[in-house]
Amino acid sequence: MEKVKVLIIGSGPAGFTSAIYTSRANLSPVLYEGIEPGGQLTTTTEIENFPGYPEGITGTLMMEDLRKQALRFGADVRRGIITDIDLSKRPFKAIVDHEHEIEAEAVIVCTGASAKYLGLESEAKYRGMGVSACATCDGFFYRKKDVAVVGGGDTACEEATYLASICRKVYLIVRKNYLRASKAMQERVFNTPNIEVLFEHNTKEVLGDEEGVTGVRVVSTAGEERDIPIMGFFLAIGHHPNVEVFKGQLELDEQGYIKVVPGTSKTSVEGVFAAGDVKDPHYRQAITAAGSGCIAALDCERWLLAQ
Ligand code: NDP
Repeated sequence: MEKVKVLIIGSGPAGFTSAIYTSRANLSPVLYEGIEPGGQLTTTTEIENFPGYPEGITGTLMMEDLRKQALRFGADVRRGIITDIDLSKRPFKAIVDHEHEIEAEAVIVCTGASAKYLGLESEAKYRGMGVSACATCDGFFYRKKDVAVVGGGDTACEEATYLASICRKVYLIVRKNYLRASKAMQERVFNTPNIEVLFEHNTKEVLGDEEGVTGVRVVSTAGEERDIPIMGFFLAIGHHPNVEVFKGQLELDEQGYIKVVPGTSKTSVEGVFAAGDVKDPHYRQAITAAGSGCIAALDCERWLLAQ
């Protein structure tokens, strides 16, 4: 069986930052890239808010840079998915792609979270061409344009108010006749004049042409259909942390995110650390994920030293 010191699971900004730090600390990390090499950022277009890129950079290029930086210090970056893991005793045992067994002294979990989508064919067709699940990342491209946000929770309200500050008009498409968001968030929405809430409406189709999104077809619960011209279509119907293989082994919070000791990356299992969106339902930014990847690497290094 292959034995490694540090196993990093996931290849978003958290994973690669952990890899950069642990390889520079001579811990010879092995990183498995997972289902979506490069993580969620590879599905966005331009990234303009990651410090150090004054002209902005595409998500794919930025992840390629992070990968190269990890490789430069000797991180062993591999294609593959951890399909099973046993965290009940040390060294931890993981199975890669259902066949390859690997033993690790420490594990850093950076498996991220995935945005939920409605599942419409047209929505998938225009993903990255007007369809986005991150207003903070992509809202800026729709300055002074009309956009729609789907959802009625805190994220949807927060994203709608953020978009309202840069866009001309924001339609908030809510399937129920009320918002699930906190009262304060609801008030912000209702007090923003360029947000129109469409209660009891569902999205039937995202409309578009070769340039991207041009509108959305909504249907009310009474059955009335209507096309609204918009250029950006934002999903804010929740995220799910990618924790399948860790269920029953690591303590999760009520939303299913990995619980860590506040201010650290330490999970409920000694020697297992978590970083990035898999433990963060609040900030979900590339830079916060990268920062927490650094924290996890330092926690891991100190823990290994103490062993
Ligand atoms: P939530 O699960 O709270 O809300 C999801 C929303 O999307 C609900 O309104 C839900 O509708 C709607 N929805 C789900 N599926 C569909 C669908 N298929 N079609 C249409 N609408 C759909 O997720 P959030 O991301 O908003 O929030 C997650 C957690 O993070 C919450 O605990 C929230 O309070 C917290 N949060 C806090 C913030 C803050 O305090 N600043 C900011 C952002 C999030 P329905 O109500 O009908 O189920």
